[in-house]
Amino acid sequence: MRCEYVNCEREAEVIVVFDGRAYHLCRYHMSRLIRSLEKNAKGRTASLQDFRVKKERGKIRVYIPSESS
Ligand SMILES: [Zn+2]
Repeated sequence: MRCEYVNCEREAEVIVVFDGRAYHLCRYHMSRLIRSLEKNAKGRTASLQDFRVKKERGKIRVYIPSESS
């Protein structure tokens, strides 16, 4: 199973659930998501619910909507 992140051809190693749907991600993209979650947390509680998934060319792009901009 390939990583479902857009433009990624790596082998998926983890399954993450966003909005009740499971997505396969490689280790690289998983750690990227965790880092952006940590950055976004800034003292408050961070959770996977903060992420939004955007479909793009049959793959996905995951991002955290910014509150400041
Ligand atoms: Zn990936």
